[in-house]
Amino acid sequence: MGETTAKVHEIVKYPDPVLMKRGAPITVFDAKLKQLVEEMFESMYAAQGIGLAAPQIGLSQRLTVIDCSFRKDPEQKVVLINPEIVERKGKQLEEEGCLSLPEIREKVSRAAWVKVKAQDVKGEWFEIEGTELLARAMQHEIDHLDGVLFIDRMSRLKRDLLVRKIKKMQKNGEW
Ligand SMILES: [Zn+2]
Repeated sequence: MGETTAKVHEIVKYPDPVLMKRGAPITVFDAKLKQLVEEMFESMYAAQGIGLAAPQIGLSQRLTVIDCSFRKDPEQKVVLINPEIVERKGKQLEEEGCLSLPEIREKVSRAAWVKVKAQDVKGEWFEIEGTELLARAMQHEIDHLDGVLFIDRMSRLKRDLLVRKIKKMQKNGEW
């Protein structure tokens, strides 16, 4: 086969404190980082996700991977290191989920279009623009790097309701 299998990490669930922390910038662009990126893609696919941020595997670092095609199109694999949203336009209101908050799907308001500046695995800066799902995924994942979860983007009422539901599930051993 000759194919190397990357380690699949366990996904950290809410309310783990690492999810509420701002990640540290990545400063070393070496083979270890490349390996970590591969592991993040594998962990994301294993969990059936289209986006994964480093804090979700317990690493408080500014790194996220996205693949809106879910493995179908290698061109759609996006690696964002130290990303920043530099421009946003319009609005979209669509249902969203998060691997760290399984089974919760709620509508969240996001920008319809964003331009993101980020570094690649070699440390080169680049810009990427996205609409629809890619725009939503980039905003969701970059939020993770700031310790912000999608429930934080909902109304206070809805957020409190969900937090209560999660606590109940935890108590029953269902979370
Ligand atoms: Zn998430």
